[in-house]
Amino acid sequence: MALFKKKNKYIRIKPNHLRLDTQNATPEVPDELFAKCPSCKYTIYTKDLGREKVCPFCSYNFRISALERLAIVADEDSFKELFTGIETTNPLDFPDYMAKLATAKSKTGLDEAVLTGVATIKGQKTALAIMDSNFIMASMGMVVGEKITRLFEYATVEKLPVVIFTASGGARMQEGIMSLMQMAKISAAVKRHSNAGLLYITVLTDPTTGGVTASFAMLGDIILAEPQTLIGFAGRRVIEQTVRENLPDDFQKAEFLQAHGFVDKIVKRTALVEVLGQILTLHDKENE
Ligand SMILES: [Zn+2]
Repeated sequence: MALFKKKNKYIRIKPNHLRLDTQNATPEVPDELFAKCPSCKYTIYTKDLGREKVCPFCSYNFRISALERLAIVADEDSFKELFTGIETTNPLDFPDYMAKLATAKSKTGLDEAVLTGVATIKGQKTALAIMDSNFIMASMGMVVGEKITRLFEYATVEKLPVVIFTASGGARMQEGIMSLMQMAKISAAVKRHSNAGLLYITVLTDPTTGGVTASFAMLGDIILAEPQTLIGFAGRRVIEQTVRENLPDDFQKAEFLQAHGFVDKIVKRTALVEVLGQILTLHDKENE
């Protein structure tokens, strides 16, 4: 009988159906047991999201931290972190900036908005950078710029490919022009790596915007993106007001950018390691 057929193994729960504590009328649910999908709005057991954190109902890719990304991408125990301990100088004496940095450090367990190092991906040794949007929206200041530049210089000397997972709100306004010059500095390092005949892959993840899009995110030899990723330079409203036109709904989404030639391939998070492994193996000079 259809009545007894279980249609879906996942349980859909609305927050107001949770059992209430009669004393203080707050739900007795431990933190992080449930997550609400920003796309389809269902509440999901976090364990049902799996390691990749993909919504089982609509395939939305939840934003993940750099450490969660590392666990998905790198071969187990293969990651060696590089270029730690670089500190910013707060060049504008921006009020509360150092306190904000300290909070971000303790919240994420990272020393800045990007994690850099070497790892193997499907057995291929790779220089790897992963940005974390939980760290001041992964905005790019002097330290982020320096870490990524050093990663490219290291990869050029060691003859390694570079894979970068981008996610950023853009330049870090607290560092003013010092953050903007990182765009040119990294781009020069990318060019020297390219001149050495080495491969650079970018994986654009949600959101990739501002000065990061305008520099190293779009300089990859191969540019991959996760589905539905927001990719842009200026914000949608700013552009609409400037050009005085309504923009399409999917404007600045990965699918729109792929259709217009800015993204090579959209790859589901669950297939990402496999695809990266194939590309890295194809370009491995020892296989030539
Ligand atoms: Zn969903």
